[in-house]
Amino acid sequence: MDARDIEAEPGTVYLVGSGPGDPGLLTVRAKALLEDADVILHDRLPGPKIIGMLPDERCEYVGKHAQGERTTQSEINDRLVEYARNGKKVVRLKGGDSFVFGRGGEEAEYLANHGVPFEVVPGVTSAIAAPAVVGIPVTHRDYASSVSFVTGHEDPSKTESAVDWEALAEAGGTIVVLMGVKRLPDYTRALREAGMDPETPVALVERGTWPQQQVATGTLETIVEARDEVGIKPPAVTVIGDVAATRESVLDVLENEYAPLVDRAEAQEGGAKATSDGDAPTVAVFRPDDDRITDAVTLLEELDAEPVPDPMLAVEATGATPRSDADYVVFTSKTGAELVAEAGWEPEAETVCAIGPATADALRAEGYAVDLVPEEFTSSGLVTALEDRVAGARVEVARSDHGSPVLLEGLEDAGAYVHETVLYRLVRPENSGRSAELAADGELDAACFTSSLTVEHFLEAAAEREIREEALAGLEAATVGVIGEPTRETAAEHDVTVDLVASEATFERLARETVDATRED
Ligand code: SAH
Repeated sequence: MDARDIEAEPGTVYLVGSGPGDPGLLTVRAKALLEDADVILHDRLPGPKIIGMLPDERCEYVGKHAQGERTTQSEINDRLVEYARNGKKVVRLKGGDSFVFGRGGEEAEYLANHGVPFEVVPGVTSAIAAPAVVGIPVTHRDYASSVSFVTGHEDPSKTESAVDWEALAEAGGTIVVLMGVKRLPDYTRALREAGMDPETPVALVERGTWPQQQVATGTLETIVEARDEVGIKPPAVTVIGDVAATRESVLDVLENEYAPLVDRAEAQEGGAKATSDGDAPTVAVFRPDDDRITDAVTLLEELDAEPVPDPMLAVEATGATPRSDADYVVFTSKTGAELVAEAGWEPEAETVCAIGPATADALRAEGYAVDLVPEEFTSSGLVTALEDRVAGARVEVARSDHGSPVLLEGLEDAGAYVHETVLYRLVRPENSGRSAELAADGELDAACFTSSLTVEHFLEAAAEREIREEALAGLEAATVGVIGEPTRETAAEHDVTVDLVASEATFERLARETVDATRED
């Protein structure tokens, strides 16, 4: 079955569980709905790999913000209803399973009460999967024939505590605690005081199935120390009971079985994975050295390609902030939003504009109110949204040193007094150029250029190594994909022959289509 065959209904909300974090553990239905949705509301729990696969422009972040405040549940409920009523296909994405400590039940009730059609798409819950992938079965014929899932969020000494630790201590099965890293000392003590054997095995599994997965093991008495030694942080599950000790006996086998996960973690930390598989095409990617390059590497591996990560863009902050006397301030990137916050920018009465939802979300995450987002998320879309209102106004465009002239010219034509603040420069990282060497040696099968600057920086890196001509010849022989028309034009100006322009300007599309094209040759 092809996941893309399952289509979402307009006006419907899908309460989708994303599983513990490895994209391989998304359900087929979840994946299809994510591809088809008009808007995806999510927080951080689905994990960086799954979030990295989502199309930025269709995502809305509704989790905790940097300042600690979060979008309230009632605000989320209202947004779900509003989007559905506007005929959107809405995905509410939750880590694990939405109905396991995921407030999915409340969302379902609210939607039902408001007459909004919805569907529940179960996910693989971390409560079972995180222990499983490190070798802990939550039930076992010999040790545990029942399992309780409990929240560790509450203070066990609270008299009105919803969790009856005394009863759990007596019940005898496995106890899996979610949200229980911080209060681990409190509930392990409560269990001991209720008569549970202090030698009972306990395991903590942090970020199960994520590349940063960590485990700490001990007993009811020693686990707090083990937690601090390993440095376990949320999200993690605590498994209490004899099953926590079975891990040792299956570990050797599991480590082999889960080699793909281990490999991926290494690829993220140490650059390209060495592979002996001659069939996998080597594909150069030039995304910045942050989540974007790790996500690019993961995606290419999933496409059975051998990634050659060679970041060609790095951000160098100028520390500048927008002029304080502007009527409008326009932001065009998430990076810009983060940098003004870092520089302590405080807007006064300005109208704050964002080029698209990802920038708007980043601004909001920093605590700024966003007044305007255009219907089309491009520079010309912004001009269209502003041109009727900015005549005679002071407009501050706050962005990188490589912004397109379209925005400045369009706003000036509309009669605005335009000023540009360069918040950051996009520079070429010092040791970039590994992919140019591979190209020069004829060992690169494909390259994915994500902006004009990545093309220019690639060629600069080659020139610096005095292999510009050889690298160009290598690209000629390889499959060259570009993210959009402007990048194609820049490539053409520099004599780089482009084989394909992505059918949609997202990295995922570009990568998929480029890898596919290498297989057609
Ligand atoms: N609906 C989610 C649980 C949400 S409550 C599910 O079914 O998995 C949040 C808690 O889930 C975290 O505090 C942590 O205890 C657990 N959790 C979520 N993802 C996890 C992961 N990948 N590894 C370990 N614990 C995880």
